Parts: sequence; C-alpha cells; structure tokens
Amino acid sequence: MRVLTVWKAGGLEFPAVFVPSFVDRRRPPPRRCFVDDSLYDRDRYEGGDEDDRRAYYTAVTRSQKYLFLTGARRRTIVVRSKKSRIEMLPHPFIGEMGGSAFAGPAVPPRRESGLAPRAGRGGALSASFGSLGAYGRCPYEYKMRHVFGFSAGAPPASGYGASMRGVLGRIHSEYARKGAAPTDREIAGIFDDLFRLRFVPGGAGTAMRRRGEGLARIYAELLGGGSVGALDAGRRFEFALGGALVTGSIDLLDADGGTEAVDLAGDGADLGELARFYACAAGGPPGRRPAVAAVRRLGGKRRGVDVGGAALEGTRRGISEKVGRILSLDFEASPGDAKCGECDFKALCRHKGFEVGVGPGPGRPPTGQRAGDGQRLKKPEPTPETIEKARRLADDPRTARNADGSYAVPSSSPGQAYTATASKCHCRGFLTYHKRRPWSEPTCSHVEAVKILEGRRAARGSG
Ligand code: SF4
Repeated sequence: MRVLTVWKAGGLEFPAVFVPSFVDRRRPPPRRCFVDDSLYDRDRYEGGDEDDRRAYYTAVTRSQKYLFLTGARRRTIVVRSKKSRIEMLPHPFIGEMGGSAFAGPAVPPRRESGLAPRAGRGGALSASFGSLGAYGRCPYEYKMRHVFGFSAGAPPASGYGASMRGVLGRIHSEYARKGAAPTDREIAGIFDDLFRLRFVPGGAGTAMRRRGEGLARIYAELLGGGSVGALDAGRRFEFALGGALVTGSIDLLDADGGTEAVDLAGDGADLGELARFYACAAGGPPGRRPAVAAVRRLGGKRRGVDVGGAALEGTRRGISEKVGRILSLDFEASPGDAKCGECDFKALCRHKGFEVGVGPGPGRPPTGQRAGDGQRLKKPEPTPETIEKARRLADDPRTARNADGSYAVPSSSPGQAYTATASKCHCRGFLTYHKRRPWSEPTCSHVEAVKILEGRRAARGSG
C-alpha cells in the first residue's frame, strides 16, 4: 500500500485507489499557516474551485479498477474551547461525475488497532552521529528532518569535506611516492584537479578554496616533518545500542602521540564526542579499530580526548536516552533565538519566536546580538479563565507532586488526574491550545497550576 498526496500520485495508476475526506469542505477561517505569510502569495496558494477541480480530477483518475471515495459523516470542531459537531455532506464533485458507475454509499464499522503509538516497532531505529546531534539541538528539527523527511537542501559548503579528503589523500600518496611533501605550487595543482564546490554563492567558493589550501599546506608540513603518518579518511563505524543501530564516519590520522580524529569536513562537529561514538563501536576484531587519543583541527592545537570508561558510559547513556525519547515519539521543540536563526527549517517551523522574510522588528536587540530573523512574534498570555481555573487546581488538595517532579492534577472527570509539568500536559486543552495559537508555547490550566505551585515552592525555599 502506498500513501501519497494527490500531487505525488500524478502520472501513476493503481488497481485500487482510496481518496479520503471526499466531503464538502467549508473554507477554513483565515489563520496562520506553517509557512510565514510573507514568503508566498497566500491567495494563490489557497486556490479556488477550478484548482480544487483539477486536484480531485487527478485523484480519481489514478484508479485502474476500483475507486473508494471516503469521508466522515460528522466532525467535531473546537472553537474558543467549545466543542461542536458539524454534519458533513458528500462533495458536490461527486454529482458532477455522474452516479451510474458508483455503488451506493456505505458506512463500514470503525475499527482501531488498540496499540499505543511507538516508532520503530519490529526493527532497530536507524540513527547516526549527525541525526542524534540534530535531536540534541532540537527534537522538532529531528522530526522535520528524519521523520517527515523534509529536505533542507544542499548546505553552502556541500562537497567541501569530500574535496578535502580527496586532496589530502593525493598529497599523502604524492609524499609516499616521492618521499617529499608537495610544494605550494603542486598543492595548487592538486586543488585544480580535485577541489569542487557546487552550491557556493559568489566569492565564498574562492575563500573556501583559499582556506582549504592553507590547511593542505599545514598537512604537507606535518607530513614533511615526519610527525604524522597515514590518513584514514571517512572511516565508517556502527554499533547497536538501546534499540538503535548507530552509524557514523570519522577521519583518522596516525600521529606521534597516537591516532587522532581530525576535522576535514569543516562542519564544526564535536570531534571529542565523535571520537567517543567511534570508541563505543570498538567491539570489532582487535587491531581493526585504533583507539583515538586526541582530536585536531588542521591549523589548530592537538587536544587530548577522554575515551575512558566513565566518559564512554556518559556517551552511551546520552545515546540511549535520545533513542528512547525518539522511539516514544517525543519531539517537543526546544526553540532558542540563536539556534532557530541558524536552523534549516525556520521558515516552516511554528515554534520559533520570530517571522522569516520580514524586516527586523522593534524587539530586535542591538547589532551584534543574534535574535532570530525578523519581527518578533507576540506570545499571547493564558486567558483570565485559564488562570482562575489554575488557581483553583493549585489549591485543590487532590493536586499532588510526583516523585519525578511532575504533578498529578485532577481532571474534571471524577477519579481521574493528568500528569503535568510546567511546560507539558497531555490533556486535550493543552493540545488544542497550540493548534489555535501555533506560534505560542502551549499551555492549559493544569500547566498553569503547576507553575503556580512551583512558584510557591521556590518562594518557600528562598524564604
Ligand atoms: S526553528 Fe527552532 S524550534 Fe523550530 S525546529 Fe528549528 S531549532 Fe527547533
């Protein structure tokens, strides 16, 4: 079975096609979309009847033999915290298609699997040094990149690491062949042959080549001085841990003081942590995986790296914790102005605190301080009703602090309670709050009650 958007399905055909939600849609009320409005023509994007007709035509003509047009008979909507049910009607395009080829409408029983949602059921999670690093930066970035599969496009320095590996490999083989390190002129010739950057705008490519040539000369000097030996560029490693298969690659250099992890990609990766990932994989045949003793950025200082038992245990614990959270589908955003400003997905992400593509707003800090990309978004305060309810819940004797620091806050259903922290709750109010105010931190009366109780605890502690 393949699940596709109508646009992805264009040009394909299938024996049986299911088109979900084939119902008469009312135009949704205007509201903020994922993508900042300033980046596209919203009216054209939302389209009209003719655009809809083309899309539905594409959908129904994908079928070779059986076509199922499905839709709910009624929907529940929430407006200002109030639920209401609306009756849905079949889409008017069904009438336009003529009914003779269609069987009558049917209402099949609704079935649910009853299984709790969990990623990676039945197989190991495929993780890498890079993907776990993205999760550590912001779990929502991980979700965009590795769950939704949004492509961030080629980075400006795409190809730099691969080119440098090729160049340094050639310098090394020239040294082995002639017994002398190549001259600056020969290094420039090697760059002409092997150094390729495809997506670098303007003069940035020249600057990167100049920087690369400088590093290559340093490498040639190290070779000539006899203080480094073979370069093992892009060595792959993998290991299983905590329900995941973790992979990565590392550039290794033989040096006087032992094997070093060296930064050839120039992407600013944490070389010490990469070396510990590599050490975690060191369960293979003896002698196949040299222990890394130091890290080095060419042109920078050689630094010793801690790959002892305690440090490795910390790295393993960190990996297991991240894998566990990924498998439990915990992708809560952790926005921050600096990291959101650099994030590949900032134009799409609803959790950042600024708009992309508009001029800097009054909230932008003085020059020199990074704070996102433009106009600050105003964060709405919880309503007075929410605060009033939170106060009552905070004073309710059934509200209790759990051993892990979260709180059991009573729900309106007798005998039931929500587990809430000062930033998260699983109640429906918390979840719908964010849908109504996509740019804000979600909240609900339970979360606000926890904030009140935590404030009181802090006051007692300082008193
Ligand atoms: S823009 Fe910020 S909050 Fe959104 S995914 Fe990127 S880092 Fe996370």
